Amino acid sequence: MPDKPKKVLLLGGTAEARQIAEKAVTFLPRDIEVITSFAGRTRRPTDPPGTVREGGFGGARGLADYLKHEGIGLVVDATHPFAETMSDHAYDACQMAEVSRTLLVRPSWRLPPNARWIEVADMAAAADAIGGFAKRVFLSTGTQEIEAYSDLTEIWFLVRMIAEPPAPLALEHHELILARPPFDLEAETSLIEAHGIDTLVTKHAGGARPAKIDAALEAGVIIVMVQPPPPPPGNRVGSVDEALNWIRRQI
Ligand code: NAP
Repeated sequence: MPDKPKKVLLLGGTAEARQIAEKAVTFLPRDIEVITSFAGRTRRPTDPPGTVREGGFGGARGLADYLKHEGIGLVVDATHPFAETMSDHAYDACQMAEVSRTLLVRPSWRLPPNARWIEVADMAAAADAIGGFAKRVFLSTGTQEIEAYSDLTEIWFLVRMIAEPPAPLALEHHELILARPPFDLEAETSLIEAHGIDTLVTKHAGGARPAKIDAALEAGVIIVMVQPPPPPPGNRVGSVDEALNWIRRQI
């Protein structure tokens, strides 16, 4: 009788998770099944290779039950650095279910010495900071964080989201644009110029530096970067290839 296929749960929603799933097909043994899990809040243009599941697990306990029930042998947490709850749950669930897990931690962005930037602890601190100097702000931080800026009635915001927000934005002066990454430098530069942007507020998500940062640097726009929450403890890898090597070593 052949061995049961080994199952890897890949917590996704990022470009890196998709790359891991794509490379796994070519570089990992055939009997390894990679299951990519999505929260399922936004529409995906295409699914990654392998098995796909969608929706929450019901907290850390729910995830621990899922791991046992599905016979998952390994968990790779490749969620976004700001998906704090999911990463904490993954850590706790893997402890409960005694399943090995690694966390993909992206390298921080490096900015040139002449860049005009500040780093703040959270969205409230970002709102405090820009209240002192900004007039026209490009906000690309996500739907859930807009509330932090609602008292800034003197500032005009250009807000970019992937999908239509569930309710009107609580911002006095703004324009909403809907667009899906990746974005190129030319388009980001035109956007910043066309709207007279003086400040960019972004999550410091790490990894490949997005074109909006390069466009802001070129235009001399002030960049306000919100620090990611501290990642949970346990094993970490720093890249897609390291994640694949980690899987290979565990099996
Ligand atoms: P979150 O606040 O950390 O998670 C909230 C809940 O959503 C989790 O407790 C879990 O529900 C469910 N969930 C999150 N990621 C999941 C996944 N990959 N598979 C199954 N369930 C998941 O997460 P978030 O910040 O809203 O992000 C949601 C998803 O979008 C993540 O997969 C993340 O990688 C991706 N994303 C987030 C950002 C960002 O800025 N936060 C940016 C780009 C992409 P249960 O407790 O019921 O299990």
